[in-house]
Amino acid sequence: MKFKYYKPQSIDEISELKSKYNAKLLSGGTDLMVKMRAKVCTPEVVIDTKGLEKRDIKFDENKVIISMNTTYSELLNNDEFVKKYPMVVEIIRKIGSPQIRNRATPIGNIANASPAGDFLLATYLFRVMQR
Ligand SMILES: Cc1cc2nc3c(=O)[nH]c(=O)nc-3n(C[C@H](O)[C@H](O)[C@H](O)COP(=O)(O)OP(=O)(O)OC[C@H]3O[C@@H](n4cnc5c(N)ncnc54)[C@H](O)[C@@H]3O)c2cc1C
Repeated sequence: MKFKYYKPQSIDEISELKSKYNAKLLSGGTDLMVKMRAKVCTPEVVIDTKGLEKRDIKFDENKVIISMNTTYSELLNNDEFVKKYPMVVEIIRKIGSPQIRNRATPIGNIANASPAGDFLLATYLFRVMQR
């Protein structure tokens, strides 16, 4: 498994790398690294997004905005999130193990688009709860 690793500090840098190379974004790496090891996915460049966005969870009236590098553990440790979204919290608690939840992110789950992805169900629940 041979690849170049970058950790850019801006969206512009990410866009430039994405346009230049056969590149994959990396958040927690818990899906991507498994696929790369199995040679299902063989990017020449891996772009770590963690240099970019502050982990953040913001609440609007009936909306939650989860910034892209926020982990499952950070969601579980946020009192307001736990109070407002108990069903989603139940789903997150069942994902992987504490070690996985400390690294893995909802955005990685969504972008991986596995039919077995647990957070995809959670995104459906967010929509139902906003009605
Ligand atoms: C032991 C183990 C147990 C697991 N258990 C579960 C489970 O119970 N339920 C479950 O649903 N999943 C499980 N997973 C899968 C995985 O942990 C989750 O899908 C997790 O949410 C992936 O997040 P990540 O940040 O690690 O994604 P990554 O591996 O970093 O990325 C996954 C995909 O998303 C893309 N991506 C990453 N960041 C971005 C971005 N900012 N913008 C656009 N695309 C991006 C990557 O290029 C890649 O294609 C498990 C994995 C392991 C290794």
